[in-house]
Amino acid sequence: MKRSFQVIALLCVILCLTACLSEKEVKTVEQVKQDFFAMNTGISITAYGDNSETALTAAEESVKELEKLWSATDSSSEIYKINHSGGQAITVSDETSSLLSFALDMADKTEGALEPTIYPVLLAWGFTTEKNRVPDEDELQRLLQNVGYGKVTLSGNEVRIPAEMELDLGAVGKGYTGDILTGILKDAGITSALINLGGNIQAIGTKPDGSDWRLGLRDPFGEGNVGVIEVSDMAVVTSGNYERYFIGEDGREYGHIINPATGYPVNNGLASVTVIAKEGKMCDTLSTSLFVMGADEAVNYWQQNQDFDMILITDDKEIYLTEGIKDKFSLSGNFNLKVLTA
Ligand code: AMP
Ligand code: MG
Repeated sequence: MKRSFQVIALLCVILCLTACLSEKEVKTVEQVKQDFFAMNTGISITAYGDNSETALTAAEESVKELEKLWSATDSSSEIYKINHSGGQAITVSDETSSLLSFALDMADKTEGALEPTIYPVLLAWGFTTEKNRVPDEDELQRLLQNVGYGKVTLSGNEVRIPAEMELDLGAVGKGYTGDILTGILKDAGITSALINLGGNIQAIGTKPDGSDWRLGLRDPFGEGNVGVIEVSDMAVVTSGNYERYFIGEDGREYGHIINPATGYPVNNGLASVTVIAKEGKMCDTLSTSLFVMGADEAVNYWQQNQDFDMILITDDKEIYLTEGIKDKFSLSGNFNLKVLTA
């Protein structure tokens, strides 16, 4: 009798110890958050587990280095050097050459909806200088003569563009940066993290408790969200003219995503496009180019490629989402939901 009492007491101690240990384990999943401003936007990275602090410091340094390479306005950047090369070949870093190579491939694949040489047109609308104005048709037509990704030559690390041409990798750079940061964090052994580059989201693994990350899908017509997307190990990127626009003297809204066919800001009935895929660079290029294409062409593109999911929000408050994301999206706003099937 005495012996069995001792066994029970011992079991209790062991149980208590295990419970205490696992409680301690949950508590010690360290959360480190780093917020900073770079690439013209607020950046926030949250990582969990050992090594997070060192990994986040390395991540921030990397963003600042990439920004130095790709800024269109910083006179020491590689993009600036290409833009002011007067038609001469410029040797660039591996990062710039691989970003440009990807952008040119996607420009081709999207038949020029993504146009990495749109910069002079963007400048005419005042988007980088914030001196917004509405250019006239003649000016736009003149500028469009020097727009065309087909005239960019990239051979290894050498880039050459015509003297009048200028590059802008603003539609691709943040997504690509997300991929590079994901590599840095994973190499440091991080298995749970969320990278937010001004709304370009990259989720590494799941939340520390094993559940999906819950991301709000921004309402393009106002503050707040239209719903929640649940993902793990995915990038989620949204494009829309609501993100940056100005109101002209004519009272109309002009947004920062330009239709390269006309030189005018996109105005095709789409309010936003969200792309969900493994790679941030893919999401970033596609969200911009599908926004340029408009709903019908975007649906065609998805049906032909299907290596990503997308959520389109129209000006008529309809939401089209591809079947792969349907069970991962919950609607909270007053919208009409339609599922796209292959
Ligand atoms: P995103 O926010 O990724 O959709 O990218 C929009 C940014 O890409 C703009 O602020 C411009 O710098 C640039 N941009 C605008 N229109 C285009 C276009 N048709 N193709 C490529 N880049 C564009
Ligand atoms: Mg983009």
